[in-house]
Amino acid sequence: MKPAEQPHAQIPRVSIEKREAALLAPYAFHSADSRGRKHPEPPHPYRGPFQRDRDRIVHSAAYRRLSSKTQVFTGELGDYHRTRLTHTHEVASISRTLARALALNEDLVEALALVHDLGHPPFGHAGEDTLDECLRDEGGFSHNLHALRIVELLEKRYPNFPGLNLSLEVLEGQQTRTAKGTLPSPLLEVQVVEAADSVAYNTHDADDALELGLVTLDEMLSTALWAGAGRRVKSRYRALEPDELRRAVLHELIDWQVGDLLEQTSQRIEKRGIDSTAAVRDAGMVVAPSQDIGQQKKELERFLHQHVYRHPNVLAHRERAQQFLRQMFDYFVGNPGKLPKSFVARAEQMGVRRSVGDYVAGMTDRYLEREYARLVPPQTAVG
Ligand code: MG
Repeated sequence: MKPAEQPHAQIPRVSIEKREAALLAPYAFHSADSRGRKHPEPPHPYRGPFQRDRDRIVHSAAYRRLSSKTQVFTGELGDYHRTRLTHTHEVASISRTLARALALNEDLVEALALVHDLGHPPFGHAGEDTLDECLRDEGGFSHNLHALRIVELLEKRYPNFPGLNLSLEVLEGQQTRTAKGTLPSPLLEVQVVEAADSVAYNTHDADDALELGLVTLDEMLSTALWAGAGRRVKSRYRALEPDELRRAVLHELIDWQVGDLLEQTSQRIEKRGIDSTAAVRDAGMVVAPSQDIGQQKKELERFLHQHVYRHPNVLAHRERAQQFLRQMFDYFVGNPGKLPKSFVARAEQMGVRRSVGDYVAGMTDRYLEREYARLVPPQTAVG
């Protein structure tokens, strides 16, 4: 065996442990307490464990493919709206703001944010529902669980193990997304990402829907959350053009919700005397909006469901996407020899349907459409 070359021992650095001891709150998760990885690896000479996790996620194929996966609106509707990748960036950005202000572990938060939607199949929730039906007898399909399959099994980046071999805390954080409301409570780093996800999608789905003309600014301003933001913006500026007003309200919505989360969270931390991660585990949900904002967000979500997610234009695309996906699934179940080699091998271990599900879930919207046109005979294809 070749002797391992020396790592860069001369690099001057402040140890991650020292840096975190100086900067993080006692209720934050410190890297020194990490339970490590399933396949043990020596520490990196100058990156902490969660920095490595973040980098592994960013360099994965599944992460790059998020750029061509639907958030809510498919690519053919235009190029203004969010993709699954830009949504992920917004969540990571809001999560880091929250984490820094609360003196939590930003590296862990960032890794959790970047992995949170990694398991989304093509065509967003429409795709997820279809795959769930296709795999009903095999235990179904959920994007949260699929993210774990990707990082533990499907990504091939390292010679010694399958997947990305992420820290156990990142895997556990993603796991809690599938079993909400259970004890022990998730780390505050996990709770922050959950809250940031909701701030991000509530705000950007409305913005995208406005740009696409599915709703009007006046309709959005009829919801309490938007009305409050509109009032505060108008009191601060001269008369604004509708487009200026819309952009100012969007900034205000994020700022207001993040400010509310920080205020409420610090109060709960103080009131419940949370002074360690052990106390976090017994404390229930700590990172949550005030009751007022919580109710206003629920109203906004109902509004978005009714006027945006169920809009006839969105539903027509949804139906077409589901037919694509279902026919592709059936095609590969009928022709498992056409799967890439590694999926053929896994089909033998875990069954054809699950392996086909893994393959189809990994496709981007664009790739699925292209493969569909190539493989599905025109007489059976959807128009
Ligand atoms: Mg998300």
